Amino acid sequence: MSDCLFCKIVGGEIPCKKVYEDDTIFAFEDITPQAPTHILIIPKDHFASLKEVPGTKKDLLGHILLKARGLAQEAGLDESGFRIVLNTGRDSGQAVFHIHFHLLGGRRMTWPPG
Ligand code: AMP
Ligand code: ZN
Repeated sequence: MSDCLFCKIVGGEIPCKKVYEDDTIFAFEDITPQAPTHILIIPKDHFASLKEVPGTKKDLLGHILLKARGLAQEAGLDESGFRIVLNTGRDSGQAVFHIHFHLLGGRRMTWPPG
């Protein structure tokens, strides 16, 4: 999508601190980190949120989740733990409407979230 911030990041039009890329997914550091490790993992294809991802995309969603786990391990979070967040829609606080998984770690987090 031409006016989507994260599509522009994938396309290189807007700079980012890239963490990982392959044919289908892209990961980069969040510009306003909420924890010592805060990485966003996204599909290269545009889907506004989880609601818009077709049921045929199970492999893509699984790939993102397992890559998030791998990036957490690479960041040294295996033992201390980490949180993966997928905000969906208004009440969740979703601000960017290109689906993105947050990988957060490196500090103790609270539950329930705010
Ligand atoms: P959400 O509230 O789940 O939609 O999260 C959107 C996230 O995108 C926030 O954590 C922002 O800090 C992050 N963000 C917004 N603009 C950029 C950008 N240009 N580069 C990296 N992260 C961004
Ligand atoms: Zn997009």
